Amino acid sequence: MPEIVDIAVPVGVRKTFSYSVPPELRESILAGMRVLVPFGRKLLTGYVVGFPDRAQVGHVKLRAVRELLDPEPAIPAALVETALWVARYYFAPPGEVFRALFPAGTQVSGERRIALTPKAATLLHGGLRPAGLRPQEDAILGILAQESSLTVKQLAGRCKHGGVEAWIESLVAAQLVQVETLVQQPKVKTKEQLGIRLLGDGAELADGLPAAQKRLVAALTPDGAPILLQEALRISNSTSSAARSLQQKGFVEIAPSQLQRTPVELAPAQNAASLVLTPSQKELVDSILGLILKQKSARCLIHGVTGSGKTEIYLRLIAEVLHRGCTALFLVPEIGLTPLLSRLVVSRFPGQVSLLHSGMSPGERFDQWDRIRKGESTVVVGTRSAVFAPLRNLRFIVIDEEQDSSYKQDESPCYNAREVAWQRMQQSEGVLLLGSATPSIETFHWSIRSGNCFHMPERVEAKPMPRVNIVDMTREFQRHGKRTVISSALQEELQICMERGEQAIVLLNRRGYARTMLCRSCGHVFACPDCSVSMTYHQQEDRLTCHYCGRERTAPDVCSECGGPYIHYSGVGTEQLEAMLRMMLPKARIARLDRDSTRRRGVLRSTLFSFAEHKLDLLVGTQMLAKGHDFPNVTLVGVVAADSGLSFPDFRSAERTFQLLTQVAGRAGRGTSPGRVVIQSYYPDNYALQYAQRQDYQGFYNREIEFRKLMGYPPFRGLIQILVADPDHAKASGTAERIAGALKLHAAKIEGQFRPHVLGPAAAPMEKLRGNYRMQVLVKLPPGSGGISILQDCFEDLDRQKVSAAKIHVDVDPLSLL
Ligand code: ADP
Ligand code: ZN
Repeated sequence: MPEIVDIAVPVGVRKTFSYSVPPELRESILAGMRVLVPFGRKLLTGYVVGFPDRAQVGHVKLRAVRELLDPEPAIPAALVETALWVARYYFAPPGEVFRALFPAGTQVSGERRIALTPKAATLLHGGLRPAGLRPQEDAILGILAQESSLTVKQLAGRCKHGGVEAWIESLVAAQLVQVETLVQQPKVKTKEQLGIRLLGDGAELADGLPAAQKRLVAALTPDGAPILLQEALRISNSTSSAARSLQQKGFVEIAPSQLQRTPVELAPAQNAASLVLTPSQKELVDSILGLILKQKSARCLIHGVTGSGKTEIYLRLIAEVLHRGCTALFLVPEIGLTPLLSRLVVSRFPGQVSLLHSGMSPGERFDQWDRIRKGESTVVVGTRSAVFAPLRNLRFIVIDEEQDSSYKQDESPCYNAREVAWQRMQQSEGVLLLGSATPSIETFHWSIRSGNCFHMPERVEAKPMPRVNIVDMTREFQRHGKRTVISSALQEELQICMERGEQAIVLLNRRGYARTMLCRSCGHVFACPDCSVSMTYHQQEDRLTCHYCGRERTAPDVCSECGGPYIHYSGVGTEQLEAMLRMMLPKARIARLDRDSTRRRGVLRSTLFSFAEHKLDLLVGTQMLAKGHDFPNVTLVGVVAADSGLSFPDFRSAERTFQLLTQVAGRAGRGTSPGRVVIQSYYPDNYALQYAQRQDYQGFYNREIEFRKLMGYPPFRGLIQILVADPDHAKASGTAERIAGALKLHAAKIEGQFRPHVLGPAAAPMEKLRGNYRMQVLVKLPPGSGGISILQDCFEDLDRQKVSAAKIHVDVDPLSLL
């Protein structure tokens, strides 16, 4: 039975802590449980990660675990291992990683309150002082005699001397004071509310009911589980009186129950039949199923052009895995963007699916997580953090659009869900399946080398790939004499498309009305004082906003520098483009999708549904539009300013541009009519554009991989970015210098090809952000080495030297170097 336990405590420190286990807890404590532990003066939720023996810990006095918060492990043991790997590889505090595994708001914390024992109280109130006490102990008793109880912190504040903790202990030993633990219950937990359930078959009784009751019945599944009454009324746009009349008629049951707060996407849907697989789909399903049945860990890639029918393959394989009594995880970049996809999965596996994504309320997330943990759902569809879903017996993970940067978390813990998924599959001998039309260079590289790359070069039913036309905007400029936003070629295509009653998508990767406001008289640019960028003008609110820190100000009428009245707007954004398109196509029903227009909950979803139902003709927006949608009636895609990403000082900018263009082009012509794409650019000869025009991934890869090899970038070398940020410029660069110096010293000790290469410090491309100056140090090292190998010793040295800055951010395998 374990006497000592290692605990991850979420306090931002890169190590775990040892505690002693009181005898009464020794029989029940297990890895994966949450416990309440004293930390400093607080009581915090910690996570049991392992059981070291005395020899490993050394003979130090350990504090004791206070309480077990879970009767059994809250997460599977394999997931504990995964989390520890994440902490090591990404050089992240283990406590932070574990906290990320649990739904927000479920942490328990506590306080210790100190009070006199009855014996001491009687003495003191009778005017007597216990004999033989030190002055410090005497003082503490004096303070407590005036209060009923105090927290340790309050008591320390009132004492003139230090070491309060130790004095409390000696007073406890003398039975003069007592310590009481007050536990604050978590904010998020299970909930009881009114639920509604259809009795019998809704279809036959729907006739003859008033409209509101009919809608409500339609929203419920025949003989289904109860759903939240409020939610049912909301979905069906019905009223509580309609619900009551249905209850009186005996058609529904309304009762309080422990309810699932169910996200809308899980609302009952038609049971969808699966499609008949095409021969190439069948071949892939068989091959990958072969891998799954081998029961050895494996990862593979489906490189299938847009519209090649990858989704159906994923669903078939998930079905096979469930059929064998195992569980599966399906990760997508952003659920809000693919409501149709989640609806499809839900309908294919009724009652078995749980969703996990950031658009859900904390209560909904908690309930979904709780269901997964109890084994009530066997398929989880989710975004990045769902990779930590507590599924047991997990044997299959699908990651769609694997190259998407939203799989990378860029705050601590900075993990990439793709790599975490691979760890999980290695631990449980499962299969990781990645899918994309434009895989990341890294993924394509290993998949062709390992022979686990499956190609799907054709669309389902041999639908043609769209024809892509690149418009050279410098010529357009010469021809029309002024900078146009929408070329004549795109304008013509748009008009033809609308006349034919088809749908179009226009992409511009810049939101707002204008990127920059500039004074024509003195050249002053309205820049964010905290970040090194210009502020974006938003016409609707008549405000300037910094897209990096969110700072806002009212748009000025005159220049704040020279008072000049001539303000110029440059760099068209989606808001302005939308206005232009409305002028150009007055009859078209147009909607805009970007982070501004979709701020209100539900707008994104409803707009996508309206577009899918062809209640809208044209969508204009940012890269949100490029992701994974399947709208069969879209025949035209226009890209305005296709090169906006190319000028970013990042070695992945060509890859990103190629991916974005190929993805968005892939939205065209997925139905019966062939698709057309118009790409506008000032750099039409750039290779990213050229290969995107030909939809030639292999060609792009061949060229890009040479560049990566030559420059020593991933996949040939791994990268670690260390960002030092501080409001004081000198402090930021001083600290960065010392970090770089320490790393270089360590690197010099490593021989040969494994020697890391330390670059910098240098100013980060975004030199100032949110009022902080930012310096960066880059480390190039053998791929897959992770952070701990080189950083551990250096950071310990730096800690000893008390090197500091407002923020030191470590990103292992960063996706963006801004
Ligand atoms: P991808 O994810 O590869 O871009 P999708 O999975 O969205 O492609 O499939 C594209 C379209 O082809 C979808 O409308 C889908 O319903 C359809 N489809 C897929 N498989 C089949 C099939 N076997 N028979 C008929 N249609 C199919
Ligand atoms: Zn800013």
